[in-house]
Amino acid sequence: MQAFIAGLLDLLFPPICVGCNDRLVQGETLICTVCFNGFPETDSHKLIDNVITHHFIGKASITYGFTLYRLRKKSHLEQALFAMKYKNQPKIGYILGQHYGNILDETPMINSINAIVAVPLHPKRFKERGYNQSDFFAKGLSDGLHIPLYEGCIERTRYTLSQTTKNKSERIINLQGAFKAKQPDLLIDKHILLVDDILTTGATLASCTHTLLAAGAEQVSIATIAIVES
Ligand SMILES: [Zn+2]
Repeated sequence: MQAFIAGLLDLLFPPICVGCNDRLVQGETLICTVCFNGFPETDSHKLIDNVITHHFIGKASITYGFTLYRLRKKSHLEQALFAMKYKNQPKIGYILGQHYGNILDETPMINSINAIVAVPLHPKRFKERGYNQSDFFAKGLSDGLHIPLYEGCIERTRYTLSQTTKNKSERIINLQGAFKAKQPDLLIDKHILLVDDILTTGATLASCTHTLLAAGAEQVSIATIAIVES
């Protein structure tokens, strides 16, 4: 009966791809195969010096940097990530996290990482949105890599207004001291993979990295779903 109802619902409201709006076929979840294969992947996991590590020079001391995609304006990837963030589709983050976990599993750079931590939202923002998309990406990565996920070990203490109207240096000042370690004991001498969805200025990730290192983490590396192409 349940399968019948599910079949009927699919017939009435056929599931469509969050990237291109085409109909999904059996075996596809949220993202169609054409989109998945077409999203522009980076080779950051093959290079110690890469687009991410360069991005943080002078901003934060990170060990390794990884990003799955390059994000172009008006692309199918942009539409999919918009749905993930604002249209109640956080599962997209989990799917991409698992996919990236399988890719990162092949690089020896991942071997020294002890735990995964997602950049938290401020509780007020979390309440507005109902979820943190970076938690979903982090969970997917954790499952794909078999590396534990530390939930709730840092918190966002400052509610920052939209960063989009501020210039680069204003954004960095705005985020200084915005995070606090809640369980510093967990972090001592660990190599943490800090995870966020989209890398733009990097101010949030830099601020979070400082907090983790100050709380006792030995090293911090960074992984994001995408870096905005400039
Ligand atoms: Zn598609």
